[in-house]
Amino acid sequence: MNLILLGPPGAGKGTQAEAITKTRGLVQLSTGDMLRQAVKAGTPVGIEAGAIMEAGGLVPDEVVIKIIAERITAPDCVNGFILDGFPRTLKQAAALDVLLGDQNKKLDAVIELKVDDAALVDRISGRYMCADCGASYHDTNCQPKVAGVCDRCGSTQFVRRADDNAETVRNRLMAYYRETAPLIGYYFAKGKLKTVDGMAPIADVTKQVEGILAGIASP
Ligand code: ADP
Ligand code: ADP
Ligand code: ZN
Repeated sequence: MNLILLGPPGAGKGTQAEAITKTRGLVQLSTGDMLRQAVKAGTPVGIEAGAIMEAGGLVPDEVVIKIIAERITAPDCVNGFILDGFPRTLKQAAALDVLLGDQNKKLDAVIELKVDDAALVDRISGRYMCADCGASYHDTNCQPKVAGVCDRCGSTQFVRRADDNAETVRNRLMAYYRETAPLIGYYFAKGKLKTVDGMAPIADVTKQVEGILAGIASP
C-alpha cells in the first residue's frame, strides 16, 4: 500500500505516519527528516537546503525529487510506503506520478489532515523530538508516558527543531498555502483524496486513518 499524508506544517503527518508504520509494516518516507539528516551530515544537499529550511521556504523541487526517486526504489519499499511531507508542489506531484508509473506502482490514497491554523501554531511551538530516534512529542498534547524518557527508544535526550519558531512558522504556512494546498484539488480530481479531521485527539485521528486503510483492498 502506498500512501501520502498531506497537510500543513504541524498537522500531525509525522505522528500519524509513525502510528501506521507500526500497525501496517509500511516504511515512512519523510523528506523533512531526510533533509535534516543531510544538513547534519553537511552533504552538498544539506548545505543547499539548510538556510532555506531555517527560513521556512521550500527546498528546490529537483533536490527533493532526486532524494525521493532514490529512496522509493530501495528494497524496503516493496511492501509499501507512507510519504510524509512529499509531494509539496504540483511539480513534485507530477514527478511522483512518473516515478510510480515507471515502477508499476500505484498510489492507494492521499490522506489529508485538516487542522485549524491557530492550532498549527500551537502544535509547532510545543513540538519536540527524541534526539536519538526522532519520535515526536508535544509540551501539552503528547508527552512521553514516563516524564523525560522516550516511549520508543528509552532515550532521555530531546531536541527542538530550529525552524519551529513563531516567525518561521508564518513563512512555512505561507509556503503551504501557496505551493502545497493546490495538491488537495489535484488528488481530489484523481479520486485519491480522503480527508480526516486532524483536530481530533491523536488516537482518534489514527482511528479515522485506519478506517480509510481498511477500505483499501490489499493487492
Ligand atoms: P507534521 O509532521 O505534520 O509537521 P507532527 O506529527 O510533528 O506534524 O505534529 C506536530 C505537533 O503536534 C507534535 O508535537 C505532535 O505531538 C502534536 N500533535 C500531532 N497530532 C496531534 C493531534 N491530533 N492533537 C494534538 N496534538 C497533536
Ligand atoms: P513539517 O513537519 O513542518 O511539515 P517537514 O519536516 O516536513 O516539516 O519539512 C521541514 C522543511 O524541510 C520544510 O519547511 C522545507 O523547507 C523542507 N522540505 C521538506 N520536504 C520538502 C519538500 N517535499 N519540498 C520542499 N521542501 C521540503
Ligand atoms: Zn526515542
